[in-house]
Amino acid sequence: MTTAVVLFTSDLRLHDHPPLHAALASADEVVPLFVLDEAVGAAGFDVPNRRAFLADCLRDLDAGLRERGGRLIVRKGDVAEEVGRVVTETGAAWVHMAAGVSAFAQRREERLREALGSTGCGLRVHDAVITAVAPGALVPSGSGKDHFGVFTPYFRKWSAEGLREPFPAPRGVRVPEAPGSAALPSRTGVEGLSPGLAEGGEVEGRKRVTAWRRSAIASYEDLHDDLAGDATSRLSPHLHFGTVSSVELVHRARAAGGPGAEAFVRQLCWRDFHHQVLSARPAASRSDYRPRQDRWRTDEAVAGDTDAWKEGRTGYPLVDAAMRQLRHEGWMHNRGRLIAASFLAKTLYVDWRAGARHFLDLLVDGDIANNQLNWQWVAGTGTDSRPNRVLNPVTQARRYDPDGTYVRRWVPELVGVTGSAVFEPWKLPAGERSGSGYPEPVVGLSEGLARFKEARGLG
Ligand code: FAD
Repeated sequence: MTTAVVLFTSDLRLHDHPPLHAALASADEVVPLFVLDEAVGAAGFDVPNRRAFLADCLRDLDAGLRERGGRLIVRKGDVAEEVGRVVTETGAAWVHMAAGVSAFAQRREERLREALGSTGCGLRVHDAVITAVAPGALVPSGSGKDHFGVFTPYFRKWSAEGLREPFPAPRGVRVPEAPGSAALPSRTGVEGLSPGLAEGGEVEGRKRVTAWRRSAIASYEDLHDDLAGDATSRLSPHLHFGTVSSVELVHRARAAGGPGAEAFVRQLCWRDFHHQVLSARPAASRSDYRPRQDRWRTDEAVAGDTDAWKEGRTGYPLVDAAMRQLRHEGWMHNRGRLIAASFLAKTLYVDWRAGARHFLDLLVDGDIANNQLNWQWVAGTGTDSRPNRVLNPVTQARRYDPDGTYVRRWVPELVGVTGSAVFEPWKLPAGERSGSGYPEPVVGLSEGLARFKEARGLG
C-alpha cells in the first residue's frame, strides 16, 4: 500500500489540482492535508476577513473530499513539523504541493525539504498551480535577466505561451485511517469581520465563474472602471485562496472570446506578472523595487492624516467612499484602490508600506504579490513606467463615477448633495457643509502635489 500526502496551501480546490492529480495517480492512498500554520499569524497575516474566508474554503474542501469518500486532515502548528508527523504516522513516500512565490512560501519549501530529509519521503513541488504561467518560466530573451520588470513585453510572451490543460476533479479519494485531524475552523465566532464579507469555498467560486462567463464578461472591457456599476468579476479572493484555478479561468475566458474576455485575460496576466516579480525579488514585499530616494513624511501630522485616510474621512468623497467600501466588504474596486493608494502615497506623501499594511489588514483577497507590488506601482517605486503620475480624486470621480452614485452609496453624509457638487463638497455653502458632518479636506490638492513634486525633486 503506497501513501502520498497532498499539502494544500493557496490552492484550496479539487478541480484542476496538479498535486492532487499526481498523488492519486501514483499512490493507493492520499492524505489531503492543510496546516493552520502559526507562522502566518506571527507574520500578521492571519486577519479576521481572510481567516473567515479560509474557514469557508476548508469546510467546502472537506465536504468535496467527503463526497468522494475522503476527508480533509487539518493540523495546527508549525507546517514543517506537522507534515513530518503526518509522514511518520502514515509512512507516506511523497509529499506533493504547489510552488509558492513569496519569501514566506520559499522558506516553507526549504524547511519542508529539511524536515523530510531524514524520513526518506520525497517532496514534489508543482508549478502553474497558483498562477497560470509559473514564475521564472518566462524571461526577457537575451538580457540575462531572471524576470520581467515591465508588463507589456511580459504580456506578449505570456499570451503566446501554451497553457497545460486543466485536470478534472477526482472521482474518489482514499484517505488512510491513521492521521488524526483538528476540528475544522469556522467563520462563526471570528470577531472583527467586515459585515459585507463574501463567502468562500470552491463551490461558491465555481458558481461565480459560471455566472461571470455567462453574463458580465462580455461588457468587461467597457465597464471595468465603472465604480458604481461594480462590473468586475470579484474573483480575486477565490484566486487568492485558489478555490478557482487561474489556468482553468484563462482557458474558460479565452473560450468565451470577444474583447471583454480578452481584457479580462489581460488582468489575469497582471496577477502572474506581479507573482513572477515577487518570486524573483521576494524583498519587494517590503523594499522599494525601484528606489526613488523618497524621504516619506515623518512630521507630526502624518499619523492624523493616515488615520483620516483609513477611516474614510479625508474630505475627498471618492477616496472616502473607496476606503469605506474596504472596511464594509473587505474588498475594494480596482479603480478605488488606485485612487485611494495614490492619495495616500502621493497627495499625502505617506510611505506606501503603511497603506499596504492597512489593505492587508482588511482585504479578503489581500495578497503579498498583488498588494505590495500594486502599491509600489502606484507609489512609483515599482514597475510603472510613469512613476510620478498623481491621480486627482476629483477628476477621477468625474470620469469613473460621473453621476456620483458610488460616492453617495458609501458616504451617507453626502446623499442629499445633488449634481457634481458631490465631488467637491468644500465648495458648498458653509451652512450646508457643516450640517452634513462631512469633514473638510485634510490637505489641498495643489498643496499635496507641490509637496510630492518637491520631495521627488521634480521642480
Ligand atoms: P477583475 O477586474 O475581475 O480582474 C480579474 C482578476 O485579475 C482579479 O481577480 C485579479 O486576480 C487579477 N487582477 C486584476 N487587476 C489586477 C492588478 N492590477 N494586479 C494584479 N492582478 C490583477 N489584487 C489582489 O488580488 N490582492 C490584493 O491584495 C490587491 N491589492 C491591490 C492594491 C492596490 C493598491 C491596487 C491598485 C490593486 C490591488 N489589487 C489586488 C489588484 C486589483 O485591484 C484586484 O485584483 C481587483 O480589484 C479584484 O477585483 P476583481 O476580482 O473583480 O477583478
